[in-house]
Amino acid sequence: MDNKASILIIYTGGTIGMIQNAETGALESFNFDHLLKHVPELKHLNINIDAITFTPPIDSSDMEPALWSRIVEIIEKNYERYDGFVILHGTDTMSFTASALSFMLEDLMKPVILTGSQLPIGALRTDGKENLITAIEIAAAKNADGTPVVPEVCVFFHEKLMRGNRTTKVNSESFGAFHSNNYPLLAMAGTDIQFYTRNIRKYIPGLKLKAHHEYNSNIIIFSLFPGIQKEVVERLIGEKDVKGIIFRTYGAGNAPQKKWLVDALSKATAEGKIIVNITQCAGGSVHMERYETGLQLLEAGVISGKDSTVEAATTKLMYLLGKNLPTEEIRRRMSISFAGEISE
Ligand code: ASP
Repeated sequence: MDNKASILIIYTGGTIGMIQNAETGALESFNFDHLLKHVPELKHLNINIDAITFTPPIDSSDMEPALWSRIVEIIEKNYERYDGFVILHGTDTMSFTASALSFMLEDLMKPVILTGSQLPIGALRTDGKENLITAIEIAAAKNADGTPVVPEVCVFFHEKLMRGNRTTKVNSESFGAFHSNNYPLLAMAGTDIQFYTRNIRKYIPGLKLKAHHEYNSNIIIFSLFPGIQKEVVERLIGEKDVKGIIFRTYGAGNAPQKKWLVDALSKATAEGKIIVNITQCAGGSVHMERYETGLQLLEAGVISGKDSTVEAATTKLMYLLGKNLPTEEIRRRMSISFAGEISE
């Protein structure tokens, strides 16, 4: 029996596996065997690699909760057979998928590394090869005692290993497309891969994976701007099918001091809708108690999402609503960390 690490690649689609349509010039997905043909270097890794492909592979703009559930199913089914998982994914919604998986794969104790690329793998200057090869190495990395080095859901992109539910896509062109908000890096891949152990989730022996599949996506993300109109806000928040609102506020969680806004938020809260305050800033946390403009929201029943990203708060709210928990329980859980998405 060989003691090589075994990795399962789940290829969902995205630029990494696309080629240019000769007629339209647009990028279209192609099949995974072609992708491997472009990375013969994989044969030199001392790692057993299997792959499962989405048919057809998708542009990640078409990603949705049912497909997150399919990824979870694949990982659950293959959990014992593999040491780690690499998910090839388009960059556009990669942070949403990484966040969702961090909640759906409760008590995960194996690496799940998402990666993709800005240029197709066949392109001369592609970033796809480096991202793919290093993601596989990270997923296979073990400590001296045989435990995985990174037992959590991560995004690896352009030298940086990040906690998945802290990431946001910040650049549509640069190779450094992702940023980790409010949380330090888990590793840097230069000439060596340097792991920052103190930032990585601890391995706990004996934990059993609990996979979750339910989702309720009847929510909206609603962002403030100066001049926002009463009627539009009332209609949006008041819509009866809306069960939750990710409310993107200014700075430390502030909103204009307008009675109609506070009334609309209070009414929605009284109807059992969950309103989560997330700042529009790329860094820092919500502190509604700091200014009068934030305090009024706290009094209207708005919950603090603290320093979560929009992607983490959105997918977590959908996940919790899908569980049909009592409103108070969802409110409580939105403000505490589940998978390292909020700083304690
Ligand atoms: N539109 C592509 C996607 O997200 C972009 C990428 O892969 O980077 O699938």
